[in-house]
Amino acid sequence: MAGTPPFSEAEPPASRLLSLTRPELAARLESWSINPAHAALLWRYLHWDCVTSLGAMTALPAKVRSRLAAELGGADASVAPAVARETLSSDGFTRKFLMEMGDGRMIETVLMRFAGRVTACVSSQAGCAMGCVFCATGQMGFGRNLHAGEIVAQAVHVQRLLREAAAAAPGQHRLRNVVFMGMGEPLHNYEAVMKAVGILHDPSGLALGAERMTLSTVGVVPGILRLAEERPPVHLAVSLHAATQAERADLVPVAKKWPLDELMAACRLYSERTGRRIFYEWTLIEGRNDSPSSARAVGRLLRGLPAQVNLIPLNPTAGYAGTPGRTEAARQFQRVLADEFAIPSTVRQRRGIDIAAGCGQLAAALQS
Ligand code: SAH
Ligand code: SF4
Repeated sequence: MAGTPPFSEAEPPASRLLSLTRPELAARLESWSINPAHAALLWRYLHWDCVTSLGAMTALPAKVRSRLAAELGGADASVAPAVARETLSSDGFTRKFLMEMGDGRMIETVLMRFAGRVTACVSSQAGCAMGCVFCATGQMGFGRNLHAGEIVAQAVHVQRLLREAAAAAPGQHRLRNVVFMGMGEPLHNYEAVMKAVGILHDPSGLALGAERMTLSTVGVVPGILRLAEERPPVHLAVSLHAATQAERADLVPVAKKWPLDELMAACRLYSERTGRRIFYEWTLIEGRNDSPSSARAVGRLLRGLPAQVNLIPLNPTAGYAGTPGRTEAARQFQRVLADEFAIPSTVRQRRGIDIAAGCGQLAAALQS
């Protein structure tokens, strides 16, 4: 049928339904000669009740269920990737999930609680091709792109846990924020990530607004320019780590492809077009980029731009010898940015470090 949405054979069955937008879900049912009005209930099961299997969709007509069973592999087929392993940090604020995608690929999702707010940190790829020297995901190399449904499924998983917790105790039980800061480079998987953003934004689903989603990029210039044109409902964070081309290229090899001056021109254009501030991420590595002179170099680079700097103390990884450095160095870095350049900054708390909550670290530990 013309216009039938993709229901890709290449995608593991468990996430195929989550890969469809609401109109696509209706069109898919129609292509099976099923009344598209049933899409509303199916959507609700997937994005509101967050069910994990077809068997739980008891209110759907038998005809719809049997067609879905035939497509997805049985009456009780999974409609969400399985959690292979879960770890809880000793402070109780961070839970990390290793998700199995159905073809053996493992990715990570992290649930973080800060000041009563729940944030899901989702992966956009299995592995990463960008090769940043200090990053566990970069050290493992590229596996494959995630499908939109595999990205959506991670947020839905966190929402499901919150819903279950709501039954047991009062507190914050709605997923408030999603950050694309897990494994992978989101702008290297642009189509699937933007489709996932659209699905998560749907008001009858998780209904996450632009203020609630942040995408972090290593600095894929064509992707930033596309974001400036298309303006999807997501905020932008750019991983900077160094304020000169030579220093940055040592840490972030793709800086050779997309040099710092081109990156900053793209960021300027993005902020002009969207009117949005960019978060600039800076992984603090002792003796390398944590001195007051480094802070001054960042200040000069970002002068005049709507910016906030997020400092991230290095999480030690097996493949990189650097250390995170002292808390005092981070404070001094912040003071220079604030006092000399009026640039706001935060230091990311190293919560969950005992469960290897840094990007890609749990998957790396299990695969080694
Ligand atoms: N690929 C994207 C998003 C995923 S990484 C990007 O690079 O921006 C999310 C953030 O974690 C990035 O700022 C990245 O530089 C940082 N990061 C990766 N490994 C880290 C480590 N071992 N310690 C501290 N920060 C790390
Ligand atoms: Fe990829 Fe981001 Fe890790 Fe760099 S820091 S290797 S871009 S996931």
